[in-house]
Amino acid sequence: MSRVYNFSAGPAVLPEEVLREVADEMMDYQGCGMSVMEMSHRSKVYDNIIKEAEADLRDLMNIPDNYKVLFLQGGASQQFAMIPMNLMKNKKAAYVVTGQWAKKAWKEAQMYGEAVAVASSEDKTFSYIPDCSDLDIPEDADYVYICENNTIYGTKFKELPNTKGHTLVADVSSCFLSEPVDVSKYGVIYGGVQKNIGPAGVVIVIIREDLITEDTLPGTPTMLQYKIHADNDSLYNTPPAYGIYVCGKVFKWLKKMGGLSAMKEHNEKKAKILYDFLDESKMFKGTVEKADRSLMNVPFVTGNDELDAKFVKEAKEAGFENLKGHRSVGGMRASIYNAMPIEGVEKLVEFMREFEKNNQ
Ligand SMILES: *Cc1c(COP(=O)(O)O)cnc(C)c1O
Repeated sequence: MSRVYNFSAGPAVLPEEVLREVADEMMDYQGCGMSVMEMSHRSKVYDNIIKEAEADLRDLMNIPDNYKVLFLQGGASQQFAMIPMNLMKNKKAAYVVTGQWAKKAWKEAQMYGEAVAVASSEDKTFSYIPDCSDLDIPEDADYVYICENNTIYGTKFKELPNTKGHTLVADVSSCFLSEPVDVSKYGVIYGGVQKNIGPAGVVIVIIREDLITEDTLPGTPTMLQYKIHADNDSLYNTPPAYGIYVCGKVFKWLKKMGGLSAMKEHNEKKAKILYDFLDESKMFKGTVEKADRSLMNVPFVTGNDELDAKFVKEAKEAGFENLKGHRSVGGMRASIYNAMPIEGVEKLVEFMREFEKNNQ
């Protein structure tokens, strides 16, 4: 067996230890004679799996009791609609547009009400986070929406916006569990798990209880009502059962690693290796404002498309996979999520140094 260093933005690298564990349990989950894939989501065994996953997540993120944790489907993209459908009581919301995902969410919300872009960084191809200390938020806006870590562009909010008392909604798909967060500052935190937690197919929504109501926009499908899922503990219908089980394993792994403060330290150390190199290199350059750099997604360029392509190709041959930048921006991007070991980044930098020397 040989494993590559996988820098994919998502679905992405998972902890090897977790993969081994789920492989071990594939044919016979803890003596019950079947795989988790084969069992009823109403069984006692599965009930323990989903309850334990939730308890471990609550523990890791220190989630207050007045928040529900929902395990849903439809990806992060489905939340782009679910959020306005459930939260737009006044049919008005404020969006901070910091990249493609934020923009998609903003556009989607326009189908349900007035979605106002209160700040944007599109003028400089989303290479920075706009100043959000004094936004012009409509008085009656139901919420302020951000994409906290911009997977494609590699920027991250280092400080949450001043929402002036409005509910904060955040897409944390690509920075989920990468560092400690104060959940109480948010109304809704959500993310697809395929970036930093588990296999595609699960989206986790952490939502303050007072935001869960029957008062959704007319025509909101049953499956898109938070209340339905909250009232049924994420078991209204068949949940993405196997995916939730793998997420649960990752939560245990994170706890064993020392929790989110330890992860933050680890992630800072890891990202610094790459950013320090980008800052000293004459060939490779980071593409975003230094103050707004993501710890998870690191885009960079040589400034020459042919050289970029050559780099991606040779890197792949050397065992560094998925370094090509997003199709909309080109260049390169190294996604270095929780499960990417430090050696992966050290070896990548070594390879980049060598490539630079050989391609002067
Ligand atoms: C990947 C991603 C999405 C889209 O996720 P899907 O699960 O494919 O819908 C949305 N937001 C962010 C920040 C992402 O990184």
